Order: sequence, then structure tokens, then C-alpha cells
Amino acid sequence: MTKLRSVGRSTSEDLRARVHFCAETGQIWLHEHRMLLVHAEAQATLRKELIDTLGMERARGLLTRMGYAAGVRDAELARTRAEDSTDLEAFMTGPQLHTLEGIVRATPVKVELDRHAGTFYAEILWENSWEGQWHRHHYGIHSEPVCWTQIGYACGYTSAFMGRTILYKEVECTGMGHNNCRIIGKPAEEWDDAAEQMRYFNSESIADQLIDLQTQVVQLRSSIGDRDQLPQDVAGISPGFRAAYDLLKQAAGSNISVLLQGETGVGKEVFARSLHELSSRSGKPFVAVNCAAIPHELVESELFGVEKGAFTGALVSRPGALRAGRWRHPVPRRDRRPAGLGPGQAAARAAGGRDRAPG
Ligand SMILES: [Zn+2]
Repeated sequence: MTKLRSVGRSTSEDLRARVHFCAETGQIWLHEHRMLLVHAEAQATLRKELIDTLGMERARGLLTRMGYAAGVRDAELARTRAEDSTDLEAFMTGPQLHTLEGIVRATPVKVELDRHAGTFYAEILWENSWEGQWHRHHYGIHSEPVCWTQIGYACGYTSAFMGRTILYKEVECTGMGHNNCRIIGKPAEEWDDAAEQMRYFNSESIADQLIDLQTQVVQLRSSIGDRDQLPQDVAGISPGFRAAYDLLKQAAGSNISVLLQGETGVGKEVFARSLHELSSRSGKPFVAVNCAAIPHELVESELFGVEKGAFTGALVSRPGALRAGRWRHPVPRRDRRPAGLGPGQAAARAAGGRDRAPG
């Protein structure tokens, strides 16, 4: 502990000497990196707007990656110093820069590292966390740690410094109501939930996601629109159904006779009803006739009528069911079919039966 503090003091003094305010050019430099002196409140306002517009998860990802980028930059300075000092002394550059930049007072409590062996462990105390204080100011006590930019910084800095992925997690956070924040850092493979933590480091194109969602909405609206146009009891989305239904709509606009074919249960009668509802005669009755229940030799006369003397027993002329307006769409429903209808066929004839009705 004593050693860590003495190392911290020496690096801190050295780092302060590397900050240059260049009034003539309007630039601030830390080593070779241009820096900005910004209002914490303005930064907090931006953070709040990110959360309010994108939601906690997306904002967390953006802020984590922003911190990560800053950490990687600061590690460049640390690595140059590592050439003239021990790994521990060089590593202290990060916590000291984090403090110097006004983000948080970072005090390493325990650091064990070996860059060549790749081993790393750190416990760091964070006091006066900028992010934790403002999150609490805007949103009150949170159920999870909230110093996302700072965690991103620690991960970016240490990963770049060590040359391998090091992940940090806050075990205490002022945003959760603790007095200070406290972080633990270990190599990624030593965390059980490394994948969960690392998903915040992967940028995702929100624009692409919005375009995808917009495309899905258009497709869904189109699908819902088509479904709305289907008559009651008619439902289907397969290409075959769509093709048959489009054909049906075309036929409904004319007086053409329609023969519907298909296996039992595919919905021939439902389609016949739809044809009727879409036709100009939709206001008139729809009558389903079980042609198979009518004796074969009587189907024609039953449907289209008979003239007196047309056959033995035809003593008077009488109109057929179509002519009388009682039946509109004869539909066979059993295996006993009238002449001309094969297995699984349904006939739907335009009402009025102009072509076959007796005069
Ligand atoms: Zn925190």
C-alpha cells in the first residue's frame, strides 16, 4: 500500500508537468494528445440526453466505448514510460491521469501485474466519481453500478497497457448509494460473465437497426392490410393461397363461371363465398347447394329448369333453381357428383345463369 502511494505521487507530479495550455493556438495538450476542458454539467447533460433518447442499455454502450477510447489513448503514454520504469510504476499512469483529468480520484488499493506473464489483478478505490454523482443527481439511486464511461476507461487503459483484455467491474458505486465506487479488474477469462460485460464494447449501428425495423413495419403493415381485405373466415398467407385469392378477385369483377378444384378441406366453399361477397351481387343471397344429394339425372333440370314435354313426366314447364333466384352457387360436397364435376371440384356459377337458364 505504502509503495503504491509513493509511486502514485511521483507519477502524478510528472504527469502534471506534461499538461500544456497553449493560449496562442487555443489548444490544451497532454503529452501528444489534444485535450478539452469542458463543463462537467454540459457533459452530464449530454449523458442524460443519450439515456433519455436511446435508453439505458444503448447509452451505456456508447459511454463505455467513449471511456474505452480515452483509456486506450492514455495507455500510450503509460507504455512509453514503461521503458524507463517498472510495470507497476508505469501502470500507475492510468489512475493518475484519470484523477488529473477530473473524472474521479482513483486510488489503487491492490495491484498485482506482470506484463510478460500476462497476469493482472487490481482493486481501485474511486472517490468523487463525476459520473456516479451526476447519475444520482438526474435519476436517483440506481440498482446497478452506473459509472459506465469510467469503467470503459479502466478497461481500455489496462487492456492496452497489458496487451490483453482486462475487464473491470464496480463492486460499489455512488450511483447505488455507496459513499464511493470501488472497482475490481481481472483478465476477461477470469470473469464468469465476461461475454455479458464485453457486449458493451461492440458498437452497433443504430441507423441500420432503425432501417431494419422500418422495413419490418412496412412489411407488417402490408400484411395486415391484405388480411383486412380478406372476407370473414378467409385466412391464409402462403404463396399458393395468395395466388388463388388474387385469381378469385379478378374473376369476381366479371360474370364468368368459376370452377374451384381442390382436396377435401382446402376451403372450396369458403372461396365460393368470398367470390360471391366480392362480386357485384354481394347484396343478394348466397346459397350453397349439395349437388351430390340430387340424383344424377335430375341435377340439370333442378338447376336450370325444364320445358313441358322435354322428357317423360315433364308435364309442365318450370324454372330451375338458378332462374328462380333460390340458388346462386351450386357446390357439390360429397363423392356423388353431378355430371361434369370431378373429384374435389366445386362449381360456382355467376347468379342469374344467363347462359343456361330457360327462357
Ligand atoms: Zn460508480
